[in-house]
Amino acid sequence: MSLFSCGNHQPDASGKPASDLNPQFDKYKEHFIDELWKIYPDWASSQGYHKYDSMLVVPDEASRKKQLDFAQANLDTLKNYQLDALSSNNKTDHYMIENQLKSIIWSINEQRSYEWNPTEYNVSGAFAELLNGNYDSLDVRLRNFYLKMSNIPAYYEAAKKNIKNPTLEHTQLAIEQNLGGVSVFEKDFHDALNKTKFGENEKQAMEATAKNAVVAIKDFADWLKKLDNKTPRSFRLGKELYEKKFEFDIQSGYTVDEIYAKAIKRKAYLHSKMYDLTQKLWHKYLSGTHIPDDSLTAIRMMIDKISLDHVSADSFQSAISKQIPVLIDFIKKKDLIYIDPSKPLVVRKEPDYMAGVAGASISAPGPYDKNGNTYYNVGSLSGWDKDKAESYLREYNRYILQILNIHEAIPGHYTQLVYSNQSPSLIKSLFGNNAMIEGWAVYSERMMLENGYGDNADEMWLMYYKWNLRSTCNTILDYSVHTKDMTKEQAMNLLVNEAFQQKTEAENKWKRVSVTQVQLCCYFTGYTEIYDFREELKKKMGDDFNLKKFHEKFLSYGSAPVKYIRELMLQDLNQTAK
Ligand code: ZN
Ligand code: ZN
Repeated sequence: MSLFSCGNHQPDASGKPASDLNPQFDKYKEHFIDELWKIYPDWASSQGYHKYDSMLVVPDEASRKKQLDFAQANLDTLKNYQLDALSSNNKTDHYMIENQLKSIIWSINEQRSYEWNPTEYNVSGAFAELLNGNYDSLDVRLRNFYLKMSNIPAYYEAAKKNIKNPTLEHTQLAIEQNLGGVSVFEKDFHDALNKTKFGENEKQAMEATAKNAVVAIKDFADWLKKLDNKTPRSFRLGKELYEKKFEFDIQSGYTVDEIYAKAIKRKAYLHSKMYDLTQKLWHKYLSGTHIPDDSLTAIRMMIDKISLDHVSADSFQSAISKQIPVLIDFIKKKDLIYIDPSKPLVVRKEPDYMAGVAGASISAPGPYDKNGNTYYNVGSLSGWDKDKAESYLREYNRYILQILNIHEAIPGHYTQLVYSNQSPSLIKSLFGNNAMIEGWAVYSERMMLENGYGDNADEMWLMYYKWNLRSTCNTILDYSVHTKDMTKEQAMNLLVNEAFQQKTEAENKWKRVSVTQVQLCCYFTGYTEIYDFREELKKKMGDDFNLKKFHEKFLSYGSAPVKYIRELMLQDLNQTAK
């Protein structure tokens, strides 16, 4: 069979394509990932693939050429695999590989952030992982550390050659991050070395290389500080690049303009709903007080009042743990989605290296560590000063805490993860679509409340709307800052007055939007696409629509972009209807 025939695969008598390309495509994917790791060894290490731990790529012209050649060659190879001859799993993998490769080419040729974003140059994170990882003996990890370190001076020399008119925001952050990371080489490496039985000569050679690394890093930070940068690039990405980046990173079925319009509409809807609830609740909570004419002021007062209903600092962790079985029971009772009892969520106190973050997060094993546990890390507020703890507890009040659990754990991120592990695809673990992953978690919040979680209490809905405003306004903020010159003052007004955030939270968001692009859009975009798709299917299927089946089928495709899941589900539906 020729791989290069350009005709469609003719179905044979059994209705299947004449040739099954899946086994070949599986082999191709393996080869593709092997090659990918040679070009991106840091990425490989971070995913738990340690064959290239000793390599540090010098970010020069030659390395960019290598990436471009790799991307072009694989795009050519992909053309040999007709989509209609592939399984659903491989089809989505095909789409995702293609997107990744085009994104590599675009970011080198068009986005060119290696010129204007100095934070792309920082080695300390990858080196810290080598020291802290426990996948191999300390001796092996230290020797890789040593070999990798020898390229650090060349790495920063190449960085200096690349940088042209960098943004002031990224320059400042790069200085802070690089100086902050020096301790990995000055202290942590030294401490680790003292735990080994290496000979004196070897130790001395290693120490000398570490010294050179420190000099190179500090010199880079110094160079950035003194840089004669008369015409810095704006940190705002600009409409043309932003639209493209949105396409590659989000892979939405909507354009960014459509998503922005939807977010603006959603904000107005949330405000009107919140004002209705505020008026309804006013007598219960603020009967002695005059209700302000300005609706946003009234909503803010009501939110502040209800936020006082929160758990105490020392029961924060136990409150979260106790929630998990309640959520599972509710989902069972309402028949919302199958929860596999053989894969219980392991709730644990946050490990030390995460201390101080509080809240809750999921730690999932990497794609090369399939049998590792998935943990639900719950932060403690021990050691926090009283005011900070109180403000945090109000933010994560009784209602928001439950929504957080839905989002992070069940049926949000954790449940999605269990399902995606059932359609194993290394491609989806590596290039997993963030908008789908975050979108699912955000969708699941609304879905739970729609089905009566929280007894339809007005307080619960009001808090949910406030929470949902955050992802809605993240999208408005990101798009407006990067394509419409939104000022900091306008941004603070949006976040504080219209999204009811604390000033510190809003300040941090402004910092984040000045050094990232598009990422803040993934929550709202994914959520909107999933919700719209569900409503579309409901209309199409009428009485045949079943929510539980919809959820299970939707998640069975793994962490693929929503538009592809939609396409495949609609195909499957048409086939069963025939
Ligand atoms: Zn309190
Ligand atoms: Zn999330």
